[in-house]
Amino acid sequence: MAVSADPLRLVVGDKAAKRLASVLGLHTVGDLLGYYPRRYDKRGELTDLLGLRDGDHVTVQAEVASTSVRKMQSRPGSTIFEAVVTDGRGKLTLTFFGRGRQAYRERELSPGVRGLFAGQVSSFRGKRQLTHPDYELLGASSPGVRAEEYASELIPVYRASAQLPSWKIAHAVRVVLDVLDVPADPLPADLRGRLGLCGYADALRGIHRPVDLADMARARQRLKWDEAFTLQVLLAQRRLAAISYSAIPRPLADGGLLAEFDRMLPFTLTAGQRQAGQVIAADLALDHPMHRLLQGEVGSGKTIIAVRAMLQVVDAAGQAVLLAPTEVLAQQHFRSISSLLGPLAMAGQLGGAEHATRLTLITGSLGAAARRRALLEAASGEAGIVIGTHALLEDRVQFADLGLVVIDEQHRFGVEQRDVLRDKAGDGRPHMLVMTATPIPRTVAMTVFGDLDVSTLTELPAGRSPISTHVVPVAERPHYLARTWERIREEIGRGRQAYVVCPRIGGDEASLAAASEDALFDEPGLRPARPPVAVLELAAELAAGPLAGLRLAILHGRLPAEEKDKVMLAFADGLVDVLITTTVIEVGVDVPNAVVMVIMDAERFGVSQLHQLRGRVGRGADPGLCLLVTEMPEAAPARERLDAVASTVDGFALSRIDLEQRREGDVLGTAQAGRRSSLKLLRLLRDEDLIGQAREEAVKLVDADPALAGQPALAEAVRGLVDAEQTTFLEKA
Ligand code: ADP
Ligand code: MG
Repeated sequence: MAVSADPLRLVVGDKAAKRLASVLGLHTVGDLLGYYPRRYDKRGELTDLLGLRDGDHVTVQAEVASTSVRKMQSRPGSTIFEAVVTDGRGKLTLTFFGRGRQAYRERELSPGVRGLFAGQVSSFRGKRQLTHPDYELLGASSPGVRAEEYASELIPVYRASAQLPSWKIAHAVRVVLDVLDVPADPLPADLRGRLGLCGYADALRGIHRPVDLADMARARQRLKWDEAFTLQVLLAQRRLAAISYSAIPRPLADGGLLAEFDRMLPFTLTAGQRQAGQVIAADLALDHPMHRLLQGEVGSGKTIIAVRAMLQVVDAAGQAVLLAPTEVLAQQHFRSISSLLGPLAMAGQLGGAEHATRLTLITGSLGAAARRRALLEAASGEAGIVIGTHALLEDRVQFADLGLVVIDEQHRFGVEQRDVLRDKAGDGRPHMLVMTATPIPRTVAMTVFGDLDVSTLTELPAGRSPISTHVVPVAERPHYLARTWERIREEIGRGRQAYVVCPRIGGDEASLAAASEDALFDEPGLRPARPPVAVLELAAELAAGPLAGLRLAILHGRLPAEEKDKVMLAFADGLVDVLITTTVIEVGVDVPNAVVMVIMDAERFGVSQLHQLRGRVGRGADPGLCLLVTEMPEAAPARERLDAVASTVDGFALSRIDLEQRREGDVLGTAQAGRRSSLKLLRLLRDEDLIGQAREEAVKLVDADPALAGQPALAEAVRGLVDAEQTTFLEKA
């Protein structure tokens, strides 16, 4: 008999275990049982061969139509055996190289025989083929096929590869299921009873070896509950733990910097800003740590809310830190917050206000002397507000009394990085405010940030001009590209500025710009057969051609930090007309005079990313214009995505589209990779109701039994989830 933690080797033998480990990363019985089929084929129902695409790894069910053998010219004694298989409409050629006549293949793959064939699709002389596919024949008489497999009308098809075809995985699963001890059920019996969910052992069998579709659906439903419930229990435990920690209350003070700041503010806060501000002010006054996510569209004015919260903490004798994901953004925050605060941040300087504090910047690019000074200001408490990048996470960075941690563009960071900063507070825990401009649907917030309270800014400050977005389809209308550059010239002529965004840096290295890591859609065959447009190359072309005579500058992640900052500053000061850049400008950059953005090869970016990018224009009084240049043909799915971006500026609607079209993990970013691997069946949009229900049930259970003393199997499952998160973090580090 076997249990979940047993190494696979003990059950399926050394050879199979090695394959499962090296190809799929599955080591234990539990790992294999958690590797669910990606689809189920009906026995006898042939796979649609016309739908295959080059490069796909496929497992198809098909019938042999004809075979042939011919000699290889180049290698005497060798032959090529070809079998053409069909689904009745499409055809696929199976090619086998071998010695001699390959008579055994001829016997096995005779016309009329049906089988499963697995391999990578390629094209040769206009014909789709699989070279040396692995196969398993489907016929009661086929050797090696057990009669019991025909009890089911469904064939589980696993994500597989040439080294490890689907049926070999299925075979290993079958062996494991045969010897598995009845596992303890992680879902409480009472919950299962109320919801009519099947037992765990039944579910494992039903997902891997369903008798029929209803059986499979029952299993899936039950296993979705496992995923949703385990996660929600973990989050409920974390919320409970968080409120049990103590924090130093930082209540609003009269006559402090915040009051002075509010008096100086050159605009009135939006209703949403006021409301979020009040909630945060109240949170900060409590003696347990605030744990709040502030989400709001690009340009909705989150920074002001953060600054006000930081000032409240400084007024209450604490320090605040603001962590930004990039050097450019940290620098920009430093500059813009310095100018917003004016004399309030000029402690000890000429013209400083009476109770002024000091703003300190800590980034990786500081020189030794500047860094020493900055570290000292943070450690002594002289700096009320410290702004920086990942450099803030280093051990050397210490605070006198850290009261508030603000994390900007939180999706760029992991929970672990939050924790590192949190641990820099002395007694008790600091309050925590994380901000994101990537609007996320409610269930995602609930799932990924379930341990946070959420505030949302839904409106943009008044006077903000709308951004209009257009797709520039150069495949159908090549002359639109020239028109695009003219458009830029016109705006520059009116004293405005523009961005041109490219997916790649260029130069010696052909790799994608590191910044667009989450933008890689795989649509083989549809891409133009050239590398993505690159900053360096395009800049040279534009300077020599369509934009000759304008002041162009380039910005990308390979530039030294000082250089990046110089370029950004020059752009912000209006000394540069057109900034040709990668997505390093994606987050937070604020230059109100920039009104046009052209995005090259726009299909290479994700929906949410495009939405973020275009938020860089239309930040002043002039309406913004965003042009999405693409060579994709009209019918391509990528074009639909671009049309969606062009048709709405509602970030929440777009984030749903993003989520529908992509796997959750891509949307959630690298930081949540651990969570992604734990969500196998659950879909954050489709299963909204289930997730909501699971959350309620989880809260009830955790309130009654925080340590899960009465639910050992559930406690074990939750531990597994935590391990998975930590493993991904360690791998990243
Ligand atoms: P984001 O939410 O994208 O971080 P920011 O905080 O950078 O947005 O704000 C964008 C711009 O709007 C900044 O220039 C900021 O000074 C300005 N702003 C913020 N709040 C208001 C307001 N209530 N009225 C007018 N302008 C505002
Ligand atoms: Mg911002």
